[in-house]
Amino acid sequence: MLELKDLRVAYGHTQAVDGIGLTVGPGEAVALLGANGAGKTSTLRAISRLLPSDGELTFDGADVSRLAPEELARRGLVHVPEGRRVFASLTVHDNLLVGRTAQARRDALFSPDDVYDLFPALVPLRKRHGWALSGGEQQMVAIGRGLLASPRLLMLDEPSLGLAPIVVKAVYQALAEIKQRVSILLVEQNATLALTLCDRGYVLLSGRVVLSGAAAELGDREALLDSYLGHG
Ligand code: ATP
Repeated sequence: MLELKDLRVAYGHTQAVDGIGLTVGPGEAVALLGANGAGKTSTLRAISRLLPSDGELTFDGADVSRLAPEELARRGLVHVPEGRRVFASLTVHDNLLVGRTAQARRDALFSPDDVYDLFPALVPLRKRHGWALSGGEQQMVAIGRGLLASPRLLMLDEPSLGLAPIVVKAVYQALAEIKQRVSILLVEQNATLALTLCDRGYVLLSGRVVLSGAAAELGDREALLDSYLGHG
């Protein structure tokens, strides 16, 4: 469904992504792991066409490396960015509906009610403004908004970052259900957590893939994984 070949991203003289290849198949959940600065966010942003890049980028067999980000989203490649980006002056419900095109409504795999079922914590907060939400609530809204954009592949950038353990658990429970319906490409620094959800993973170091395989295999190579993730 998604295939990258020799993806490269540079910021001036810094080669943030240095020839990455990866695939995400239909129905798969794939983790992109690595320490701070390994190039995970740059990879996601390049896939979404938010950053200029070199290399091949194929989605559903079509070359999408020159498409505008909106067109990619229209085709079902939806990005939930790091930092959540919830609108402070809109309510939870209106934040969910932001950017929901007529097409997304027509093709909808998820309804607003589905989002409230996945994240029951948002039900009593429907009318609360973005500025009054906790980090975890904002993360739930950001994922919910992504779901209402009618994704076929949902890309998530560090959805657990800075959240309390109980909130991380709620978010990952929802992701396990979401995974039954759409493909996922998940960026995480917390490899253990990501590998409980994902089928496969890639580990990045300095903009390159240094290790990849089935989640169980990666989990078994904990010492090596830890050395790449910077806490070994
Ligand atoms: P993090 O978890 O901190 O987001 P990451 O694995 O997602 O890390 P990137 O954010 O993709 O890594 O960064 C990869 C490299 O590119 C790092 O060396 C970083 O310093 C550099 N970099 C990222 N954004 C920029 C930028 N806007 N300008 C210059 N260098 C950048």
